[in-house]
Amino acid sequence: MELWFKEIDESQSGLTFKVKNVLFSKQTPYQRLDVFETDFYGNVLVLDGCVQITQKDEFVYHEMLSHVPLYTHPNPKNVLIIGGGDGGTVREVVKHPEVDHVDLVEIDEVVIEVAKKYFPEVSCELDNPKLSILPMDGIEYIKSKKNHYDVILIDSTDPVGPAEGLIVSSFYQNAFDTLTDNGVMAVQAESPFFYPEWVRKIYRNLHGVFPVTKFYLSFTPTYPGGMWTFGFASKGLDPVTDFAPSRVPAGTSFRYYTPDLHQAAFQLPAFVQELCRE
Ligand code: SAM
Repeated sequence: MELWFKEIDESQSGLTFKVKNVLFSKQTPYQRLDVFETDFYGNVLVLDGCVQITQKDEFVYHEMLSHVPLYTHPNPKNVLIIGGGDGGTVREVVKHPEVDHVDLVEIDEVVIEVAKKYFPEVSCELDNPKLSILPMDGIEYIKSKKNHYDVILIDSTDPVGPAEGLIVSSFYQNAFDTLTDNGVMAVQAESPFFYPEWVRKIYRNLHGVFPVTKFYLSFTPTYPGGMWTFGFASKGLDPVTDFAPSRVPAGTSFRYYTPDLHQAAFQLPAFVQELCRE
């Protein structure tokens, strides 16, 4: 008998793949968590029926969420990640030698445990001495710090349930206050084909708080529609004009991110530009 996983978005269309084994299934206090073994995508982490990472394509999202803001900032020392309990963003952030400290604020400790067991190449830096793991709600955490982080990365689930408050204006205002004077932030900003209203809302709310707000794109096959939006927001630094390709050390090689792509990713198709207007 064959077992197939289906993620249906907007009750209309979706993604499906063949499952070899169900490795883990649990209702945590925050969400339903499943890990599937597949031949095509490797191990797949699913939260509340939505694919979060697969071993085959996770590098795209993690590299683009991390390196665009980190190479825009001239000297990122302190980094905050909200969500991201799988460790993929931490893995990319600690590739920047100038980063002194990373705080990872993940609401669901089960995500961290499962990532360590089933996604070793994603969670491989979760024991890095530069990292502190804070198991709590990022919405509450961010209220407690002022003028502290150079870079904030929002690596969250879709904005429902515990992540709903991560796209509202008051959260972005708290994030602004938590950043240092030259601070920058990047947020996962959803699918322009499947969830255009989320993209629009994230843009508007960020733009209402941050002087610089620009959106960029990447392509992840297992996210709804493939095309995925990220929001960049800062107190002044521009991710295109203030980015110097020479900041990426010669010989550095990633699997998706390149200095040329950093700049090209901000060239948006007309329908995405339309979503990113006040
Ligand atoms: N790559 C992913 C995606 O967009 O599909 C994101 C993956 S990461 C697993 C998302 C994490 O955000 C989850 O582990 C979830 O528990 C966490 N999360 C959601 N809301 C949160 C909150 N308010 N504070 C901290 N973590 C949160």
